Amino acid sequence: MIPISKPLIGEKEKSNVLSVLESGMLAQGPRVKELEQAFAKLCGATHAVAVNSGTAAIHAALYAAGIGPGDEVITTPFTFVATANPILMQGATVVFCDIKEDTLNIDPEKVREKITSKTKAIIAVDLYGHPADYNKLRSIADKHHLIIIEDACQAVNAEYYGKKAGSLADIAVFSFYATKNIMCGEGGMITTNNEKFAMRAGRFRHHCRDSAHYDYVDLGYNYRMTDIAAAIALAQLERLNEFTEKRISNAKTFNEAFKSVGGIVTPVVMPNVKHVFHQYTIRVSASKRDGLKKYLFDHEVDSAVFYPKPLHLYPHFARLGYKQGDFPVAELASKEVLSLPVHPALAESDIQSVIKTVKRGMTFNEEDNF
Ligand SMILES: *Cc1c(COP(=O)(O)O)cnc(C)c1O
Repeated sequence: MIPISKPLIGEKEKSNVLSVLESGMLAQGPRVKELEQAFAKLCGATHAVAVNSGTAAIHAALYAAGIGPGDEVITTPFTFVATANPILMQGATVVFCDIKEDTLNIDPEKVREKITSKTKAIIAVDLYGHPADYNKLRSIADKHHLIIIEDACQAVNAEYYGKKAGSLADIAVFSFYATKNIMCGEGGMITTNNEKFAMRAGRFRHHCRDSAHYDYVDLGYNYRMTDIAAAIALAQLERLNEFTEKRISNAKTFNEAFKSVGGIVTPVVMPNVKHVFHQYTIRVSASKRDGLKKYLFDHEVDSAVFYPKPLHLYPHFARLGYKQGDFPVAELASKEVLSLPVHPALAESDIQSVIKTVKRGMTFNEEDNF
């Protein structure tokens, strides 16, 4: 089976972990600090704060931005559940907004319609590794004094008008979960140019302790990253450009192979964007998508649907009053998307197998064998 994702772990990851174990400093320590500095530099941000997951990073970002009960946060329903859950954790209100047909990212025109006197922030997601449209979001946010949070969990090393993901909003978040473009098992990061946001996020991960006075100034959590995790992430960071180029080149090979195949819509890349292909996601008609997925599975090619259900249809969001039909673009996308293996661990022969199997699967589809 060709897997949909696979972490690449080399000798450096192993020796880095071993030296942390031998140092006896296993919790948040010097390696975390080192990772924060390297990551801030990568993103072109002045501050980076490491935490133990992408979810924790979003929670800390919302806290840092001062989001709490009574505040409305606008976000996309077409994302991983962790984008929106922290809004509820902070006691704020989730306001979903439909996505664009092409990039499947939040639609700035529709954001405009969702703004009320209670709106405080927008969480945009760089879905599959393609940055959202921050120029348009910025002009809306500035007009209404809103904070933009960039969920860049899938977009490390992506670019938008020459600027890196992590520096496209007021505060950004990343995940180093095992399937992400760089990983350390579980881990997360916050980047920002705002000193106050960085200070607040840094406190939040450690029970909101004001370290100068050993005083707990607010409710906080234990969201600290370990030096073991940081040591793995540091080794991964050294190979980030190599990993990214491989994903982009694999995606290009797929685009070439699929452009003439009827029934497949290949992923869109907007001008002035560097898409880092956390996922390579095609669209096929809703009546054929699940059949194609099964055909691929039966022929040793794993694939995945990100995401099978838009968030507003899950019970903990639906009870806010959402229902089927509210976000037609997201709802249709959830029935048509299919992500294929694109990760850097794929051999050239794997890529050719994926192409061959997808093409055969589409023909099989046409013959109405499903
Ligand atoms: C992975 C991911 C998260 C959450 O990250 P974890 O590290 O799993 O908590 C949030 N948002 C998006 C878009 C993600 O892909």
